[in-house]
Amino acid sequence: MLLRAEPFTLDLRLTWRIAHGASQQRCNVIARLSDGDLTGLGEGAGVPHWNETPDGIVQYLAAAADLLGDDPALIETILNRLPPGSRAGRAALDIALHDLWSQRLGQPLYRLFGLDPSAAPPTSFTIAMDEPTVMAERAAQSGYPILKIKLGSPDDEAIVAVIRQATDARLRVDANAAWTRQQAADLIPRLAAYDLELVEQPLPRQDIEGLRWLRQQKLGVPIFADESVCDAHEVAALAGAVDGVVIKLMKTGGLREALRAIHTARALDMQVMISCMVETSVAVTAAAHLAPLCDYADLDGPLLIKNDPFEGVRYQGAKLCLSDRPGLGVTPR
Ligand code: MG
Repeated sequence: MLLRAEPFTLDLRLTWRIAHGASQQRCNVIARLSDGDLTGLGEGAGVPHWNETPDGIVQYLAAAADLLGDDPALIETILNRLPPGSRAGRAALDIALHDLWSQRLGQPLYRLFGLDPSAAPPTSFTIAMDEPTVMAERAAQSGYPILKIKLGSPDDEAIVAVIRQATDARLRVDANAAWTRQQAADLIPRLAAYDLELVEQPLPRQDIEGLRWLRQQKLGVPIFADESVCDAHEVAALAGAVDGVVIKLMKTGGLREALRAIHTARALDMQVMISCMVETSVAVTAAAHLAPLCDYADLDGPLLIKNDPFEGVRYQGAKLCLSDRPGLGVTPR
């Protein structure tokens, strides 16, 4: 098998401002894994607040290229051979292996997982941080029935209030680790008055005991961990501390570990949201193949960028539609 990796700059439709910082562009890496007549596609996202860079991802893939062997069906064996390092790099290779394997078997990936794509939950659409009135206007104009509101500014309550006035959409909020325990305990009950489905990552990544304390306050809104959880091991460490976990391929290092993390969460009675970073249709479509196993989906990456070079998962409003082509079903645009 031959592995190539190429950085690709994603131009965002709007400035992507969250509590971790703002971006106009992101640089990801597209992986192409060839075996004879077939090529599997993968992607690693260069996410600044996870210390992932395009150079780091390319270097990881260059080192991995010598360890692949010649059978894409040996996914578990190949992944076990890989060195530690960039999780986004590992995700890029894992996704490409799954694409190649399922193309070789002539089936869509979801069928090899035994999943019904029509069972995928509808996706949310993200409203990034801005002036409250601007966020409300975007929420109203988006037309999406489920919105994820990025919080973590002094205006958080005003933001949710004006957005609730502007739309009947189901609302989820994501503080991206911005609040203290006391801020969260004060704010969440006030935000709950605007009818929220869930609150994502109210506290800093390391503050697992804070999440547990917050949940014990019974604030009336389910609490989900995102930054606090990368893989199945960390899902287990959150048992009892949160109502649900946010699984992303760039945190788990690909589909394989994402499956383990989802099943671990289930065994511990936690709900699961499948989500993405700023990514093209390659990585988001890969995640969509696991969506039927999840309670919530947040897979709007391709809707946030202007220059997606690929087509994969399609959106009928908030509904995720996967093709019945073999593999991921991703093609060049
Ligand atoms: Mg989040």
